[in-house]
Amino acid sequence: MTTDPERYDKIYRPRTFSEVLGQDDIVRHLRSLIGRNKLRRNLLLCGDRGAGKTTLARLYAAALNCESNLPDGSACGTCETCRDPNGGGLFEYDTAGLNKEERESIGALLAQARISKCRGSVKVIFLDEAHALDDDAIDLLLKEIEDDRHGFVFCLATTAPAKLGEALISRLMVHRVRALAPDTALQLLRDIAAKQSIDYDPKALQLLAAVKRNYPRDLVIGLEQISGPGDRITVELVKEAFGVDQIDILHAYGLAFAKGQFDRASEILSAWQESPLRKAEWIRNYIVSLYYNVVLGRDVVVDPLLHGAIREQGAVVSELQQRLGLTAGRDLREHWESLLQFWARHRLDDDAGAQLTIALFERQIDILRDDSPLSASRSPIVPVAPPPMVEASSDAMGCTVIRSASEYMSAAEVREIINRASFFIQHHGKLFNVALTMRPFAASEPEAVEAIAAFRRKLAGVLSAKGEDGWGGAILIDRSEERGVHARFTGHVPGVAEQFRPEFEQFLGECRRRASDDGDCEIQSEVAPAGGKQALRFHWKAVLDLCASLYEPGLDSSFASTRRGILDRLGVRVKDRRDPRPISPPRLSFIGGLTDEALQEASRFNMTFLSAYDDSAFDRIRDGWELKEAADRRREFNDRQTKFASLSRQFTGDQLKQEQDVLLGKWPSDAKFRLRSWPVWWQQ
Ligand SMILES: [Zn+2]
Repeated sequence: MTTDPERYDKIYRPRTFSEVLGQDDIVRHLRSLIGRNKLRRNLLLCGDRGAGKTTLARLYAAALNCESNLPDGSACGTCETCRDPNGGGLFEYDTAGLNKEERESIGALLAQARISKCRGSVKVIFLDEAHALDDDAIDLLLKEIEDDRHGFVFCLATTAPAKLGEALISRLMVHRVRALAPDTALQLLRDIAAKQSIDYDPKALQLLAAVKRNYPRDLVIGLEQISGPGDRITVELVKEAFGVDQIDILHAYGLAFAKGQFDRASEILSAWQESPLRKAEWIRNYIVSLYYNVVLGRDVVVDPLLHGAIREQGAVVSELQQRLGLTAGRDLREHWESLLQFWARHRLDDDAGAQLTIALFERQIDILRDDSPLSASRSPIVPVAPPPMVEASSDAMGCTVIRSASEYMSAAEVREIINRASFFIQHHGKLFNVALTMRPFAASEPEAVEAIAAFRRKLAGVLSAKGEDGWGGAILIDRSEERGVHARFTGHVPGVAEQFRPEFEQFLGECRRRASDDGDCEIQSEVAPAGGKQALRFHWKAVLDLCASLYEPGLDSSFASTRRGILDRLGVRVKDRRDPRPISPPRLSFIGGLTDEALQEASRFNMTFLSAYDDSAFDRIRDGWELKEAADRRREFNDRQTKFASLSRQFTGDQLKQEQDVLLGKWPSDAKFRLRSWPVWWQQ
């Protein structure tokens, strides 16, 4: 172990814009300011400690003052100003580190900066931990920024922007500094290891990235802490250095409840030295991870830390099976899905809420007691089950908005998109015929997201105003290198494919007019070719386009050769895939015939849907079986509806309810039990 934990941090701190990893939006913005005659802008950088806020502020300040900037806009590092020992124009204050008087007299600090001599012509005031400023200091800053008498450039950094107040925030260019994407974090560790000739087990670096949550400074310091001369970095070493014994605790906990030792399970939980929030997250990820990797026997990374050990947790599942006398397949899966639904219903925001969730979960696993028949609590109508890890809600226009816990597009969201796109054909017998990309020209991510949400509401308005059944669409908020934050829409717009141009131009014109109420935007559109195989191909291409920014953790190059990811199985071509980029959820919503409400309505009389995706029938997903299913389904639906209606002519009140229940009981809620006129995939 070395004695100076900051050494790597200093060596590997980015010196130019091009060396900054994973903050493309901010870097592009700063470079464009420098490129446009060194525009001065007041900035607010939000993000966790170690995310790189200070580095970005220093790069901007140095670039503003440098006498011969590099081609990428960065400071040269060699001119007189760059080498000025007085910092060439940058004044850094750690606001939280100031004492009370200093904080109160921020004016005095500014006066000092004003008179102090330095070579740089632009004085940049960097206030780190700016949320520690009190109201008077914020007022003073507001005035200083408003008047701009002294030509300062202000750069504020904070982990808690809300504390700065709207008035100040509205006068700053706001940027969010994010954790690195896991692939980028891993690449950073690999690069440094190579430069320092450190020998390592690739899995150990993956684990380190997961422990350090992908913040560059923590990553490099963490790497330095565990690397000694001649040592190989192993998984064991990382576990030992950073106390990763959570997996053993989870295993003991899982085994206790599987064996029916509920008191023991509670003891383990309360002895566990973790915050309630982290405990709850661990348990949730553990349950979901077991579901995919053991119950379903698939290979899905829910949490990189857990994943390495999850297969060895099979004992938990087999103990449970044995105790409850379950068969391997369906029975256990249903029990487990009830646990998933529990976690899908509970959001984890803070410690107090998480503690409550854990208490409720302990009640929930009571259903895994021997004497609890799960089936008794089932309702006769089975709505589309919420998928694990995402949560759906309705907005004012009745759109279904999906919330995920992750900043990246997740497998659960892909599942929603694929399934609903399939359900839509099964019920309506119609294909999606339009694909739009809408890009608002907004200054910041929140503004762009708001503009897109407004566009979505208006799109829903335009479409529902047509007064026809059988329209619907999915909207994804995405982010890319070229387009910044933008929206992708695909769906069925009635009349468009058949009468093509005039109808569509009218629809598009309406979209444009509505969208531009909220500021400028660009809309690109594509319409399905008429009929047959081409129309089917258009539908699935547009749907898979929405999924193409899926981020599958763990599927980096070292895994790619040995297993196939979701996009591979769906047949999304490599050139059509987009670099996954973080965007604050919610980023996915459904309108019209794709909302929860519409799907529940369509599932009346136990008319549930088939999902080739959930059955892993990947070669059937895009082959168009839904068009035949739609005809079978319509017949059956009408038949059931007629029978239901005739009951209400014979009975009333409680008796009607009873007769209806009897009838529903005859119609199994498993969609596979209905008659089919086409070759199905589950009986081969
Ligand atoms: Zn220079």
